[in-house]
Amino acid sequence: MHPLAGFALEHRGAASRFAGRVCHCLLIETDAGLILVDTGLGLADVAQGQSRVGGLFRHIVRPALAAAETARHQVEALGFSAADVRHIVLTHLDVDHAGGIGDFPNARVHVLAAEHEAAVARRHIKERERYRPHQWQAHNDWQLYDASGESWNGFDAVRAVIDNEPDILLVPVTGHTRGHAAIAVRQEQGWLLHAGDAYFHRDEMAAEPCCPFGLKLFQNMVGVDNAARRRNQARLRGLATTQADVRVFCSHDPVEFVRASGQPTR
Ligand SMILES: [Zn+2]
Repeated sequence: MHPLAGFALEHRGAASRFAGRVCHCLLIETDAGLILVDTGLGLADVAQGQSRVGGLFRHIVRPALAAAETARHQVEALGFSAADVRHIVLTHLDVDHAGGIGDFPNARVHVLAAEHEAAVARRHIKERERYRPHQWQAHNDWQLYDASGESWNGFDAVRAVIDNEPDILLVPVTGHTRGHAAIAVRQEQGWLLHAGDAYFHRDEMAAEPCCPFGLKLFQNMVGVDNAARRRNQARLRGLATTQADVRVFCSHDPVEFVRASGQPTR
């Protein structure tokens, strides 16, 4: 994505190097088949453009809308088929996270019930633009989770989302949306925590956090509960700065994305 005023989304001097924003999805191979964490934008978004993703998103966030960048094409490029993706676990249902759901018709979609309810009802003005129900309302295999569960690393109401797969957890971190979650994935060497849009810039997870003003403004503008959002962001920062075995990253930071892919950052 190449948002308008991209210079305001990075610290001074770094903007030209990190102009674009990514939609960071995870593909996990498990005994239960492939599991996709978030879906980014999908093939129908690419084909239909503004009529599907909305004019504000199209012209302000400015997604590339390239078929090769969709999760579907990238899954197939790895030698799998779309049908191999059996589960989709969502941080939330915003346009840039849920657009690819329809590209995986065999998948069961896991999301917090509060998020699904908010996205269907679209009560608040902020929710009318961000949620695009025609992206996903035809999908009929959903598993919704209420706000109860175990505790994990100081977070409450955490749920294992897939039967026989205790290593993938839905961790409620609300504020950006009503039912926003982070997704924890246990690996041999520790946990990955996909924080979705609970924060937007890598330096927000530093011991002395800072955030470029454009991103700070944007998060305040789109957050539905900014007090909860800030509280949860601080808890994530506590995790990121004290737990060496938990690696936290968010959806849209291009540097975190490159680091996660194992490529050197400049
Ligand atoms: Zn997003």
